[in-house]
Amino acid sequence: MTITDFPTTASGVRSPIPDSPATTPGERALAAARFQLAEASRFLGLDDGMHRMLATPRRSLTVSVPVRREDGRLEVVQGHRVQHNLSRGPAKGGIRFHPATDLAEVTALAMWMTWKCALVGIPYGGAKGGVAVDPATLTTRELERVTRRYVNEILPLIGPEKDIPAPDVGTDEQTMAWIMDTYSANAGYSVPGVVTGKPTALGGSLGRAGATSRGVRIAALQALARTRRSPEGATVAVQGFGKVGALAAQYLADAGCRVVAVSDAGGAVVRPSGLDVAALRAHAAETGSVRGYRDADPLSHDELLELDVDVLVPAALEGVITEDNAPRVRARLVVEGANGPTTPEADPILAGNGITVVPDILANAGGVIVSYLEWVQNTQAYSWSAGEVEMKLRDLMENAFRAVAELSAERGLTLRQAAHAIGVGRVAEAHRMRGLYP
Ligand code: GLU
Repeated sequence: MTITDFPTTASGVRSPIPDSPATTPGERALAAARFQLAEASRFLGLDDGMHRMLATPRRSLTVSVPVRREDGRLEVVQGHRVQHNLSRGPAKGGIRFHPATDLAEVTALAMWMTWKCALVGIPYGGAKGGVAVDPATLTTRELERVTRRYVNEILPLIGPEKDIPAPDVGTDEQTMAWIMDTYSANAGYSVPGVVTGKPTALGGSLGRAGATSRGVRIAALQALARTRRSPEGATVAVQGFGKVGALAAQYLADAGCRVVAVSDAGGAVVRPSGLDVAALRAHAAETGSVRGYRDADPLSHDELLELDVDVLVPAALEGVITEDNAPRVRARLVVEGANGPTTPEADPILAGNGITVVPDILANAGGVIVSYLEWVQNTQAYSWSAGEVEMKLRDLMENAFRAVAELSAERGLTLRQAAHAIGVGRVAEAHRMRGLYP
């Protein structure tokens, strides 16, 4: 089967799952995830029953999270935890705090976690959580109350052998510490393995904080090497300068790349001769945005995505490269630090223009890989050196990259189609071997 055998729009694929019109960004993300699954199912020859099972989450829990604001007011926000699939092991996936998150988005993100864990060969199913709050508008104490109450509501679902949360957009080490404490307080003893991405003082792994970004660097360098391109002087633009984007920019600069442009919610900056990423990170840490950085010119968000660079790293949210702007993308390589940044309609446009996309479930898998290493260390009450963690991360990333690149070359698939074929195939196989109960 070649890429031309696949329909190019989400509605063009025959799917046993009825398509409801996608109106929110979350619903569009879910439609994209289901389209990718339908493509993989068709490629693998899965029957309708298997496809239906993989397209629907195993468990979804929606909870109300009442939060007492500092002025005494009571507000109620919604939270979700979705366990998409448990065939290969406990559910695994981050928790997102973002005002626009909804059940559909969390479901899509949980589905991507399932394929990601299977693709990189770690023994987990996929999950995701989300709370519809903007952490920037809450005080630290309000954030702590939101986190603890949300965790209390999803308590029946999580546990080191059941479902293990981690950071995602809007959450960090501190959030994970509160989760570990809330769970442990309820259990009556300390349970470090219930959550990953914790501070090292609580059993967090060395190397977890920058793991997703390190993985992005590994993926970018592998992809460059396959086109016989040296990282030395390769130009890079990074969209999103948060936990993943800022360190990805730093690590790519450390590898010899020339980071020429970055953006965040506040603005974008460009310097064709190369940005001083460390100085830019200091500026962003001080002012809250890359905007206004002295040694660069301002740029619009749209212009950043359309720069003539070797590598474009979308590292923020879903749905930024669409059928509207894909024809104007001039990067040679797109390395997806974020989950779902490219829509299914944009994919064939990029492929048609000779642009290689290293898909999210491969490019950003470094985070969950080191989460797995953290969980293994926790369950053994042992800790590895930063070097050991780095070596294991590199091994798992490079093995997954090789498998995807080989299948892509053998069968004429894009890297995304190959990655999904491998991930979905492994989950289907696990399900088949376990059989159906009752
Ligand atoms: N939120 C990250 C992701 O999307 C990490 C998940 C984890 O470590 O469990 O892959």
